[in-house]
Amino acid sequence: MKTTLDIRNKTESFIKESHQELYQNRAGLKEESRLSDIYLKYPNLFTEETLETLKTDLVRSEGEERKRLNFLYEYLTVAYQRQGINHLTDKILTLEAKATVKLPREEEIPFRRAEVVLANEQNRERRTLIYQGQRKVIRELNPLLEESWERVYDQVGKLGFSNYTDQFQKLSGIDLKSLNNQMQKFLSETEELYVDVLSWALNKKMGLKLREAQKSDLSYLFRFHEYDSFFPKGWMITLMRRWSEALKLDIMAEGRITFDTEPRPTKSPRAFCATLDVPDQVILVILPRGGVEDYRAFLHELGHSLHFAYTSHEEPFEFRWLGDSSVTEAHAFTLEHMILNPLWLKRYLDMGKETQNFLQLLHLKYLYFLRRYGAKLAYELFLHEGSSLSGKKEVYRELLTDACKVIYDTDYYLYDVDSYFYAARYLRAWIFEAQLSWFLTENFDEDWFRNPHAGEFLLNIWKYGQRYTLEELAQKIGIGEISLDGIRERLNRYLG
Ligand SMILES: [Zn+2]
Repeated sequence: MKTTLDIRNKTESFIKESHQELYQNRAGLKEESRLSDIYLKYPNLFTEETLETLKTDLVRSEGEERKRLNFLYEYLTVAYQRQGINHLTDKILTLEAKATVKLPREEEIPFRRAEVVLANEQNRERRTLIYQGQRKVIRELNPLLEESWERVYDQVGKLGFSNYTDQFQKLSGIDLKSLNNQMQKFLSETEELYVDVLSWALNKKMGLKLREAQKSDLSYLFRFHEYDSFFPKGWMITLMRRWSEALKLDIMAEGRITFDTEPRPTKSPRAFCATLDVPDQVILVILPRGGVEDYRAFLHELGHSLHFAYTSHEEPFEFRWLGDSSVTEAHAFTLEHMILNPLWLKRYLDMGKETQNFLQLLHLKYLYFLRRYGAKLAYELFLHEGSSLSGKKEVYRELLTDACKVIYDTDYYLYDVDSYFYAARYLRAWIFEAQLSWFLTENFDEDWFRNPHAGEFLLNIWKYGQRYTLEELAQKIGIGEISLDGIRERLNRYLG
């Protein structure tokens, strides 16, 4: 690849092609995944030579061009490393797709559906059996995961970074140590509150004591079955349309967004947003089953979809497709957290006297996720410190168990890792979203979600795509320094 322009154009067409492939596979339109074939179609894109070419231009550039090249360089470094382990990833995906969880005297559950089945299982013994079956599959995946990480670490060194964490921080500009310090402080501050509320919920909903509870019990608790009747399958999209009219937003973005709600046997049970072309073709894919989890997932993916579909055509390729994903996650959480808003719930899902208990439980789940991801960040910093994987398992179990108060098994020590510190992107997005929610209330009142001026405000921040990092966006909007105070305030209000 000779010039940066070539690299830029080829990257855009590679992304479009691979997103199309991922969409087809995950939406259940075709079973085979041929991602590695797509990599093969771009033989010169994922090489050290390409990275060198980019770097030469990068150090010479400034301003907007420098920022674009930074995003491109980060993306291609990751893609280069992913290509190096493509054959292993394909093996992992195939094994995962074919694996089943076997229950005594009963049917086999596809591994990928096991988590859903477990969360729906009322019988505690059966939940434990499903969980044991999942662990067995993870243990089969572990040698492949170990080999993948060892290879990536090897490549990190070849590119001149001192380790994986160093690479991430240099390429993204995100200070993980400082985020980790804030999160560890938050973990100790909220420990007592978390233990209190979790003990109350386990006892009230399942008749369990905290010390008896297992990870699989939390999956069931946080599925919130008892509220299913308030969240019927048929009402979801009608509700979203009605709500968006009040905000004066078009949830289909003048036809650029479509909803794929069709049931297909191999459709992924997890909702997702497929960006086939930004901003012109975005598909929100969901397999509706009813229940609050559907609504939450739909809102989250709708946040991503609106963000991408309302990104300006004027933005260059890098700002439409690449950049700091904490930004799109923050927009997704802004919509997802309508479900935490008592006024929104009252208006669209009238739960009557159930509202208060329901909100407490939802905020407990919110706190659980913050604590879990805080622990994951600390663990991942430790995991990626050197290049050897020995001794990591035990620390995974210790940190996660300590934060979540239910036992996390060592088996998951690599399976439960989000590559390239995606956990940090989520944490940053959660932090930003709580502040933005406070800002929206201050400026557009308690029921900002029905105010067309708030709708206009959102359109105005979505249009940048990911041109700005979260810190820059916060400055631009005028919400000041990013801190956990917004989250603390929200938790105090509902759990304190
Ligand atoms: Zn998301």
